[in-house]
Amino acid sequence: MSYIVIKEAGCKGCSYCVLACPRKLIGIDQSRINNLGYNPAVFTNNDAAPCTGCALCAEICPEVLIEVYRKRKKAGGRK
Ligand code: SF4
Ligand code: SF4
Repeated sequence: MSYIVIKEAGCKGCSYCVLACPRKLIGIDQSRINNLGYNPAVFTNNDAAPCTGCALCAEICPEVLIEVYRKRKKAGGRK
């Protein structure tokens, strides 16, 4: 399963990544404020519809805060 890491300390809460994710795996955490004074973006994977590693979120982030980790397929696996 692929996943992303958001460097939330630099996040400005613009929501571009939220809108970009085709699987709706990113949200804005309204319960926390980072050092810049913004509600940061958070990643929540979904076992039923997991991150594909498409990197659309990383490409759209104006602050370049998102790293994408793609898990390799197992040899002989179908997925
Ligand atoms: S890599 Fe793609 S599927 Fe994964 S969180 Fe980013 S936009 Fe969503
Ligand atoms: S696109 Fe970047 S700056 Fe904007 S909410 Fe997402 S992580 Fe934060």
